[in-house]
Amino acid sequence: MAQTDLPAAFGFLASAHTGGGTIPAAVFATRGRRTPLSERLPTQTVDAVLVHPDDGSGGAHACDGDVLVLFAGEIYNRDEIDDALGSAANGANASDAEVVSGLFEKYGHHAFRLINGRYAALLVAGTRVLAATDHAGSVPLYVRPEPGHVLAATEVKVLAEAGGAIRGAPVPGTRRIRRLPGVHQVPAGAVLDIRVGTGEVTVHRTWTPPVHRRLVTESEALNNVRAALEKAVIRRLPAGRRPLVVLSGGIDSSAVAALSAGAATAGIDTLSMGTDVSNEFPQARVVAEHLDSRHRELTVGSEDLLALLPHTVHAAESLDPEVIEYLLPLTALYRRIDGPPRRILTGYGADIPLGGMHREDRLPNLDTAVAYDMDTFDGLNEMSPVLSAVAGHWSTHPYWDREVLELLTVLEAGLKRRYGRDKWVLRAAMSDVLPAETVNRPKLGVHEGSGTTASFSLLVRRAGVAEDDIAAVKARVVQQLFDLTVIGGVHPDDIAVEEIIGKILAEGRR
Ligand code: AMP
Ligand code: MG
Repeated sequence: MAQTDLPAAFGFLASAHTGGGTIPAAVFATRGRRTPLSERLPTQTVDAVLVHPDDGSGGAHACDGDVLVLFAGEIYNRDEIDDALGSAANGANASDAEVVSGLFEKYGHHAFRLINGRYAALLVAGTRVLAATDHAGSVPLYVRPEPGHVLAATEVKVLAEAGGAIRGAPVPGTRRIRRLPGVHQVPAGAVLDIRVGTGEVTVHRTWTPPVHRRLVTESEALNNVRAALEKAVIRRLPAGRRPLVVLSGGIDSSAVAALSAGAATAGIDTLSMGTDVSNEFPQARVVAEHLDSRHRELTVGSEDLLALLPHTVHAAESLDPEVIEYLLPLTALYRRIDGPPRRILTGYGADIPLGGMHREDRLPNLDTAVAYDMDTFDGLNEMSPVLSAVAGHWSTHPYWDREVLELLTVLEAGLKRRYGRDKWVLRAAMSDVLPAETVNRPKLGVHEGSGTTASFSLLVRRAGVAEDDIAAVKARVVQQLFDLTVIGGVHPDDIAVEEIIGKILAEGRR
């Protein structure tokens, strides 16, 4: 499929109402043009703002008079969908929003079961408002359903701007948001079907993580993994332009770089980040040279990195201190990518279905870790595109392509841990296109590469927090950063994390 370089929109804010209903200010962290639009449908009016790259938001909305679609992100199985729809949705020239509209006409709300993508969508039809996420919930989506008025946005800070809700009632099957009564996050792989008249919500699941495991031969496993990952990478490449692969030098991102280099006719760019404390530059360089990429190394001071904690919370809108710690180096990395908006491929998330963090040979434990992680990723916002969109860039994660993720998850544990190797199936599948030392190098600690693993912990420890209290203090710090930057609208540049830690410790002593 011919893919344009960037999605038509990175995010949106929408107000669907039967009469009256105000729209809050578009305070997105996402950088980009903001385009307002207003559509009067037979029973509802929709006011919206799309946030999008400069070259236009046209493909992010579709309206045929009865049905309106807003679409942030992109679809990866357009070829299959176009086949299924035939000429109904104008084939390959249709925008992703038009394709969703066409799918809805044919399949109703089940349309979202068919899409392999990275997206959040809002579809307004008759008296219904449908709010949908991709299988991974990789583009967060929040709603505030009230009688006669539904608000939805891809960043919850936008809904915080709307002021108090009339009703704070829980919606079963969704997650409520701290300090924002009436606001709910759409679960991963779900459609919220909202009746605009009453504000009543029905939740339909469109994807759940598989819990079964398949026994397959070594060669079948590695052929399948190679083919699926290659397809996922190809579907994510910019048409005729160089992709940027963020390359840590580990097997996950090296595999993505290798498959990108094999398929991108214009060549690839790679970027590695380290800190003044440590880096994996030599390991990444081996891969970059092997693939002949245009490679760049970036060193960030560890103090500069820590100063970005409020930015990470502001962008990811996550309350999970570990996730915030993982995402901190990526925040720094993305923010340093200057120039025009880029399409960025990452190796993010491979460790979850492959049990990459698991360090010993017992397979039941490995599969327990995989099952647990697949059950608990929802709502962490680890894959949020806002992390890179604050600098205008679009990031995409091939390991969490729906087909790759399913395939990896269901492989029996012994193909993941084999011959004393972690992520054996991936290493074996990539052995012909990467240097042997990259394929064979054991995994460093999770997120250890750039010397940032425990930077948040270090900061807390430096403030004099006892070892046993570190986790609790980190959780409090993240809560406060969330309350200030996401709920309170404080600019992340105006926050000193040390002061916040100091206040938390003082409260603790009272
Ligand atoms: P990790 O959570 O450390 O496995 O990182 C997830 C992904 O983020 C990697 O596969 C890379 O694509 C990217 N990444 C993480 N750290 C770095 C780094 N120091 N330099 C470049 N890319 C990185
Ligand atoms: Mg990794």
